[in-house]
Amino acid sequence: MQESTIHVEKTRAGAVPSHADGSSPRAPKFIWRTLALKMLDLINNRHRTADFLGTRANFIQERIRILALVFAAMIFLWIGVDYFTIPDRGTVIRLAVLRTLCAVLYLGLAFLGVKQHDLPRARLKLAFLVTLPCFFYIASRFVLEDGGASGALMVYAFFPFVTVAQLGVFSLPLLEGLALAVPAFVTLFVVEGHFASLLSLAFVGNLILLLLLTCLALWASMSELQMLLRLYRQATRDPLTGLFNRGALMERTRLELDHTQRNGHTLCVLLFDLDKFKRINDDHGHLTGDTVLETFARILERALRQSDLVGRYGGEEFLAVLPRTNTADAELLAEQIRTACTDTEVTNPDGDKVRFTTSVGVARLKPGETVAGLLRRVDESLYRAKKAGRDCVVLAA
Ligand code: GH3
Ligand code: MG
Ligand code: MG
Repeated sequence: MQESTIHVEKTRAGAVPSHADGSSPRAPKFIWRTLALKMLDLINNRHRTADFLGTRANFIQERIRILALVFAAMIFLWIGVDYFTIPDRGTVIRLAVLRTLCAVLYLGLAFLGVKQHDLPRARLKLAFLVTLPCFFYIASRFVLEDGGASGALMVYAFFPFVTVAQLGVFSLPLLEGLALAVPAFVTLFVVEGHFASLLSLAFVGNLILLLLLTCLALWASMSELQMLLRLYRQATRDPLTGLFNRGALMERTRLELDHTQRNGHTLCVLLFDLDKFKRINDDHGHLTGDTVLETFARILERALRQSDLVGRYGGEEFLAVLPRTNTADAELLAEQIRTACTDTEVTNPDGDKVRFTTSVGVARLKPGETVAGLLRRVDESLYRAKKAGRDCVVLAA
């Protein structure tokens, strides 16, 4: 393996590792990249972890449920208003049928599939939530035209606007928000094109109002998304290494173990403890110690798969959870990470080369075993690795 060197420079903000090309992570290039990634964060979902997307799906489903229940009640109870405001009984009955159908569809949206929290499903429901009032509006306009109820049209004309306004509560990235606004615009064009004129001043006014509302709703949505992302990262990430913090790691480990036990899959865990780390701090200072921790975190990230979980378990202890991995592969991976550490060099502010090693415990989940049981066994194997002289991998009994 090629040897890598990380330099530590003293800056006002603290020690920062710099790369072989001399550029520091806090160099302008890095800042622009971070800013660009932050912007992309607000445009689409591609740069977010599966974990955040799962939480967001949950959040979207909850809000869909509330809105669907409110709309179901309103759309149904409005039959009473139609009864008093529309003179033609035939029109009232036709509208009542349409309203009942929409209320049932809204109830279906509120109560079906509430336990499945995947993002594609949440998106599908969201698309349904914005399409349903558009469908109702178009259908009711045709019904009302027959009944000649001009007063009621005033209320119905609000539907495309309500459709885009509700996008403001879903913390949507830009592209998703724009896609979900399309049904409202199509509705406006269809209805105005059919019943009025696309060249009329009223249509242009409505179009501008709809555009304005869409911009405001998407702005609100993206601002909330930005805030959510920031809070979410602060709550789940270790600020030094950027890996999961202990709380987030344990929560996800529990879920992963449940899933593995239910499906009878294999799962292994690796527990790392940097060797004689206190001496690195004592000999080279805490800033260098911090850089070693950051460097080790990058080694872990490079070695692990997207589906693996990794986090900071304690001060200089890290835990990796490897779903669908057998013991031989887990041991091999632990060995690769161990050698990557011995091949890596960190340079402290005085120009001294600092090397570090890690001891690793490996354990495979037993059928019916709990998180506590698995962690106890992997901790014992790590202890044995320390006893055996450190810088080695030990498999749990
Ligand atoms: P062993 O090989 O037995 O693991 O020895 P060790 O020195 O690594 O173990 P010990 O538990 O005695 O020391 C761990 C040290 O890690 C002590 C603590 O100061 C240091 N440490 C914990 N968190 C951080 C951190 O965030 N930054 C730095 N620089 N040091 C840390
Ligand atoms: Mg330790
Ligand atoms: Mg240690």
